[in-house]
Formats: sequence, C-alpha cells, structure tokens
Amino acid sequence: MNRYLQSVEKLQEARTYVAGGVASSLRASMKPTPLYVQKAFGARILDVDNHEYIDYMLAYGPLILGHAHPAYNEQIYEAMQNGSTYGLQHDGEIRLGQRLTEILPCAEQVAFSGSGTEAVMLALRLARAYTGKTKTVRFYGHYHGWSDAIFTSFPSPDFSSNGHSAAASGIIQGTGGQSQNSLQDLIVLPWNDPEALEETLTKHQHEISAVITEPVMCNSGCISPLPGYMEKMRELTSKFGIVLIWDEVITGFRLGLGGAHERFGIDPDLVTIGKAMAGGVALSAVAGKRDIMHLIEEGTVMHLGTLNGNSLATAAGLAVIQELSKSEGQAFKDMDRTATMLTEGIRSILKANGLQAVVNQQGPVFHLMFIDRTEVADFDTFNLRDSQLYTRFAEEMLHEGVLVRPNGLWYVSTAHGEKEVLETLAAVERVAQRIAAY
Ligand code: PLP
Repeated sequence: MNRYLQSVEKLQEARTYVAGGVASSLRASMKPTPLYVQKAFGARILDVDNHEYIDYMLAYGPLILGHAHPAYNEQIYEAMQNGSTYGLQHDGEIRLGQRLTEILPCAEQVAFSGSGTEAVMLALRLARAYTGKTKTVRFYGHYHGWSDAIFTSFPSPDFSSNGHSAAASGIIQGTGGQSQNSLQDLIVLPWNDPEALEETLTKHQHEISAVITEPVMCNSGCISPLPGYMEKMRELTSKFGIVLIWDEVITGFRLGLGGAHERFGIDPDLVTIGKAMAGGVALSAVAGKRDIMHLIEEGTVMHLGTLNGNSLATAAGLAVIQELSKSEGQAFKDMDRTATMLTEGIRSILKANGLQAVVNQQGPVFHLMFIDRTEVADFDTFNLRDSQLYTRFAEEMLHEGVLVRPNGLWYVSTAHGEKEVLETLAAVERVAQRIAAY
C-alpha cells in the first residue's frame, strides 16, 4: 500500500480546483509526492497519512522559531483581537520600522511588502528612479524571486566571457509567458569574479542602476564570498553611482539579527528582507538609505500593496525580533551549534559509507551536495553535483521521518535541539547504508 496514499489522493482532488495542484510551482517537484499536512509543532510536522517528520525544510526558510511557537502565536492572536488589517495606519508599523532601523546597520528607513519577490521589485524600482539608469547587474546561481524583471533560467554560463547582456547572450526566460523585453535590462555575471565585475561596471557605468546580490549564495550551494569581493563590489558601485542591493531574503534574520551585512561589516545601499523576518506570516521589506527611500515619500516611486504592513504581519515581525533578541542573541549561537552538530555528523556518516559529499554551512542554513570534490566554492562546481542522488537521498530521508528540501538546502530553527539532531543522524546513517548498497 502506498505510504503516502492520503497525500496522493488529496493532490488528485486539488488538481481539479487548484492549478497545478500546488500553490507554488516548486512544491510539485517533491518526491515521491507533494505532502499534505495535518498540523505542525516545534521542529516537527505531521502529514495527513499520520507520519511525523523532523522538519528541515521549514517552509523554505521562514520558520526560524519552528512551527506554532507559543509566544509568537500569542502575539499574533492578541493583534488579531483588534482586527487583522485596516488599510489605515497603526502603531505596529512604526514599532517594527523602528526596530528594523535599530537592528539592520544599513537601514535608515523601511518600506513593507508581502513577499521577497515584491521587496526585490521595489528595490530595483527605487534604484532605477534614484540613478535615472535602467540596467540591473545580477549573478549566475542567485535567486531574487519570480518577477519578470529579474527571473531567469541559467544557460550553462561561459565564465570565460565577462558577462552577458540579455540581448547578446539570449538570457533564458525563467518561465513561459515572461516578456523577453523585461530581460533586456539585465546583465548577468559570474559571482566571486572581481575582474568581471570591474570590467562590466566600468564599461556600462552610465546604464547600470543597480547591482543585486545574495551576500552568501544560499540558493546555490551556500557559497561564501571570496575575501575582499564584497568590499570590491561596494567600492565599485559607490564609485560609479550604482545602487548596491543585498538580497537578504534568506540571510536576513538568519546569519544574525542584522543579517549578512552586519556580519560582514559592509553597508549596502538597500537590503531586501523577508522569510524569517516574520516567522511564517507574509511580510517583507526594503530597508536602506534615507535619500533613496525618500523617493517614496516624494511620490517619485510608487509603493503599493493592499495588505502591506498589516497588523498581523507586523505583530509577527515584532514577535520574531523579540524572541531572537533574548539573552543577547543566544538563539543564533544555539542554532549555529545545532547546525554544526548536524553538518559534522552528516559529513562523517557519509564518508564512512563511501559517499562523496560536500556540506557548506552558514550558521543555521547549510547545503548538502553529493559531489566528487572536496569543496564547492563556485557555481560551476555546484552544477556538477549529483542532483539525482540527492533526490533519492531526500526521498529515503522522508521514509525515515526527516523532511528535507529536494534541492539540498537545510534550515535549522530555534526549535531544533540535540534530540532532533540525534534522531536525524541515525536516519542519515540508515539512509547512507541503503544508498551505498545500491
Ligand atoms: N530573494 C531570495 C534570496 C530568495 O531566496 C527568495 C525566495 O526563495 C526570494 C528573493 C523571493 O522571495 P518570495 O518567495 O518570498 O517571493
């Protein structure tokens, strides 16, 4: 009998009413089937077939406090007693705005939106309006949401040539229905390549409005910037009057309350944050320099959204900050420790079973790749990983009661502790033995 029968049947039913059966295309790729959930608590999730899993997918990142955290829930319930959204102003917006400007080193003002995609759209728009230029530089292997202006698939990049304009290289649309025209303003570069950056910015300085980057390549291998690279990016963008945007939708509230830019000690002009900032409620923000953000007040840049800054979302954001600020950020040290116990354990179990893998960790997020290399430090190498083997590993882990994303990225929350780590490593051991025996 199919272990996941209820989920399979629900997916069939969903397909009648919900386009594609799932609410976000990526979710359809889960093997052996997209799971349907009954409920979730702490680090665990229960599917409709009554299987309990330790959850390392964490809803693709937001659940930094785990599921149904009591103090977090309480603050949202409390806010809900007074209504959920007003289309008017309320104190929660001011309080959260104030906290964000205290927490994020580069933030003098913030603007709220609902998703990471929207925050990126606004940041790019602000950059174009501020500079009066139109082109955006982005990097291979980074993800900045699914809006037409920035969503691309990656052709196998030829890193020997310095950057490809959409027109010249035919940057591949990320999806059917995307306007090819929207890609004309994109220049895509290899990341961690200071020469390519310098050459392109020098040549196209009068056209480029923004450089947008993930500060750590979380979406492709959790790869760190090379020493000096982000400093160089800061220096060049300042020199050429280009707005530097750090997309901290993953790293914000994960690498520390102040995100990657606090950790690296570099101030971008704008940051985008989302996911973990509200612990699982739809909320994102652009934060940054007042003279750029001021374009909104001036009316030069329109910033819209019916549910922007709603009182449930701001209560959720404040609750996350409150929990993560306790005991001088002990939560981050604990999550780091938990993730390190996991990564060290996974490395040694896989090695003992003759499986070649690299695990790149950045605090409470890490990427596990099956690959015949000792390190993965660039997108080219990342593309050599054995994705099929990982998919099989993820499916076997599911049978063992551990939920991981099919792409290799694991998230840890404050709800994960030693108990979960030990159970997980025991599962990894069983799965590694089975895979090694194939
Ligand atoms: N930016 C980064 C770095 C992301 O990882 C994501 C989502 O994974 C986004 C932007 C888009 O965020 P959302 O899915 O909330 O639209």
